[in-house]
Amino acid sequence: MPASPIDNTTPTFDSSKITVIYVLGGPGAGKGTQCANLVKDFGFCHLSAGDLLRAEQTREGSQYGELIRTCIKEGTIVPMEVTIKLLENAMKAELERKPRGEGWADGKGRFLIDGFPRKMDQAVKFDETVCLSTKVLFFTTTEEVMLSRLLERGKTSGREDDNVESIKKRFRTYANDTMPVIQYYASQGKVAEVDSTVAIEDVHKAAREVVLKIFAEKQQTA
Ligand code: UDP
Ligand code: MG
Repeated sequence: MPASPIDNTTPTFDSSKITVIYVLGGPGAGKGTQCANLVKDFGFCHLSAGDLLRAEQTREGSQYGELIRTCIKEGTIVPMEVTIKLLENAMKAELERKPRGEGWADGKGRFLIDGFPRKMDQAVKFDETVCLSTKVLFFTTTEEVMLSRLLERGKTSGREDDNVESIKKRFRTYANDTMPVIQYYASQGKVAEVDSTVAIEDVHKAAREVVLKIFAEKQQTA
């Protein structure tokens, strides 16, 4: 059968120009903190799936507010269509924004997608329809460390999921749904692991090295 002229699985963004790094790790592993550091170093656009969902949850007129609220509190994963659309829209908006600095000339762009994909279906769908990811930056530490960080954050975050009951559920979802995503990318040699137990600045240094390596490899294949 001849190939269809309309290929439904062509991604919206060309991964030879747009670098997508997924930033994964358990809740409280330090993804958000380190993404902020990498934004300063490399001019990334940092998109946190959780932050986009929380913004959508409170957006007037959103049809997903209740669904998102329930999922976040229960530590479960919002249906992927919602999250993927939010990410894609945010990427489009960012690419239309001008002027931009390093890494954003001639249709190029660099994104840290934080806290996503958390489940296999999201991973496959985003890679196929939005942009093929370049690498996974994976922050690891113990549940004990994550729990204490989240409880500390919970004192001021106002987040409905920074309490012991929700945190336990988030750990379960992470083990059941997100670890398979990390294994999937690891089997493709796409995972760079950084121990995030140590001091913030040391984690930052290690993460910066990972990103430098990603850009160096990308240049060789471009
Ligand atoms: N979430 C989701 N899909 C995603 C990312 C997040 O459903 O792709 C929901 C999920 O309920 C999760 C919550 O948003 O527990 C908070 O995610 P966030 O990344 O903000 O948490 P963090 O890992 O940073 O503590
Ligand atoms: Mg976060």
